[in-house]
Amino acid sequence: MSDVVELSNFIAGQWQPPQCQHWIENFSPATGEHIANIPCSSSEDIDLAVEAALDAAEQWSQFSINERADWLEKIADELEQRTDEIAQLESLDTGKPITLARNVDAARSVANFRFFANQGREFESEIFEMSDATNRVLYKPVGVAGLITPWNLPLYLLSWKVAPALLMGNTIVAKPSEMTPMTASLLAEVIEDVGLPRGVFNLVHGNGLDAGAPLTAHPDINLISFTGGTATGREVAKSASSGFKKLSLELGGKNATIIREDVDIESMMPGIVRASFLNQGQVCLCGSRILIHESIYDVFVEAFLNAVNDMIVGDPADDETELGALISAAHRDKVMSYIDLAEEEGGDILCGGGPPVGIPDAFANGFWISPTVIDGLTPDSRCATEEIFGPVVTLHPFSDDGEAIEIANMTDYGLAGSIWTQDVDAGSRMAEQIESGMVWVNCWLHRDLRVPFGGVKHSGVGREGGRWSLSFFSEAVNICVKRE
Ligand code: NAP
Repeated sequence: MSDVVELSNFIAGQWQPPQCQHWIENFSPATGEHIANIPCSSSEDIDLAVEAALDAAEQWSQFSINERADWLEKIADELEQRTDEIAQLESLDTGKPITLARNVDAARSVANFRFFANQGREFESEIFEMSDATNRVLYKPVGVAGLITPWNLPLYLLSWKVAPALLMGNTIVAKPSEMTPMTASLLAEVIEDVGLPRGVFNLVHGNGLDAGAPLTAHPDINLISFTGGTATGREVAKSASSGFKKLSLELGGKNATIIREDVDIESMMPGIVRASFLNQGQVCLCGSRILIHESIYDVFVEAFLNAVNDMIVGDPADDETELGALISAAHRDKVMSYIDLAEEEGGDILCGGGPPVGIPDAFANGFWISPTVIDGLTPDSRCATEEIFGPVVTLHPFSDDGEAIEIANMTDYGLAGSIWTQDVDAGSRMAEQIESGMVWVNCWLHRDLRVPFGGVKHSGVGREGGRWSLSFFSEAVNICVKRE
């Protein structure tokens, strides 16, 4: 018990326990050990945080965008100094491999602040001349931003919202997932260390119903940026609608990976395996349905299984590990229930399907599932159309590009997809017909932070990224001056 960390809320520049003095236990997904207690905050804490953010709003909005960009750069510098610590905390808190936490989570969190600092420095308001008047567009802060984030990429996704929200002059109340509180607290420490004015960034830990819902419903929250599941997104949208809050919803996905008959299997396989299982398949963009041209089905499946069986599953702290633990016992059980359902639906489990064999005793109480590949399900089965969000992929043959597109579009989701082919023109034409916000050809999660990010259908509302974030986190106001 002595190693159990106690985290606090960060409100008005002060570290504070929850008003109700209730705490939530936080566990290591790899070992099942109790590693932290976090505030089980309620509407009282949210009220205090919103009040602090309102009090700080005027001062923060008076800074120029270049001055705010300088603050982002300071935060990036300080985060970069703490890269190893971020990686270790993220790996401990999520069960993800340390190499992934270092190269993706920590690196992207720093990059997010630097990217938006540069965006701020390059930012120019538009002027639209008329024959007798000049229009000048101002981008004003929206006010207090409520930021709600999930557990799969904790600091990566939080920084993706905090940086543009601050840049455009908003103050913040952030509520990270109760399951991954560690690096949000680290970010608050960094913000305190760089001396950001008190109340500009406030952090309230807690669960969705007790802390998240009061945040979305608070009358003084003007904007909500939410990343999480589609069912929660629906609740958030309902709550935000009565106050006409600005709303961005980044929700779930059930993405197709399309393997055309002309694919170079050997050179593309590392990318396809990565798209299937990165972060134990717990990335909203993961390709959890692999659609394979029937003429290469058997050859592809054999090569894919060989590559999957070669993945190193185990100790997240080991640099060689490629796959770690799932986030919680409840989530492990949910993923296992889909594997059971797949068998009931007539699926054939080609590999995985349960905890990894030979996992060391230290991880016996952790939440583990081996990479699992399922064949023989119809593309409209539940396992092939519902988001499982774990290390599980289903395989489906198709006969031509048209059928592949039809299957890819067969779900309510529309977040992402990837197409693997030597004919990039054909791949690009197919990409245009896929109903999703993002499609990659011969790559996956190859990110340019300037491009729009977001989903269609039940995968979300709105876009973030580059100028789309700057636009979302501000109110565009036009001033038209008529000349004499
Ligand atoms: P979740 O259960 O929807 O939770 C997301 C966040 O919302 C958490 O902080 C959660 O708090 C909070 N929350 C829960 N109920 C709420 C309510 N009624 N009002 C306000 N906030 C509430 O999602 P998750 O399981 O953490 O994350 C996995 C999901 O996120 C997957 O569906 C994945 O596809 C999606 N995701 C989407 C993207 C994207 O960019 N499109 C990126 C990453 C993940 P607690 O967890 O503390 O209860």
